[in-house]
Amino acid sequence: MSSKVLFTCRFCEARPDEETQRSLEGQLTLILFGTYVDAEPGGWLTWHGRGIYGATLYACAEHRDSLKRYLREHYGTIGPHPFAEGPHPEGWLRRETLAQMRRRRAMLTYRTWAPVAEGGSSR
Ligand SMILES: [Zn+2]
Repeated sequence: MSSKVLFTCRFCEARPDEETQRSLEGQLTLILFGTYVDAEPGGWLTWHGRGIYGATLYACAEHRDSLKRYLREHYGTIGPHPFAEGPHPEGWLRRETLAQMRRRRAMLTYRTWAPVAEGGSSR
């Protein structure tokens, strides 16, 4: 028996269609702070809050604006994140993550060369 994560719109009882459900499940692996992410093809919007921005919230295509209005009202004084303008494609985040990974890898490469200078045998 397989379990399924249940996503429900914050403002109505809507449930995502099968494909949007898969997009939303894919987003569970993202670790974000104060970030909107679209869930296609159903046009859903996820708010990845965390910390001072609260819980992760979901809205169906009809209630995307309601979600933004709600967050801007409740968290608007904390920071600029709730005011982000769409679209919010998940692909952009993945690309950013990839760039961060490359930077980290470059740092590691740099460090593997560094110990020669710090080894102290040539002094
Ligand atoms: Zn809704």
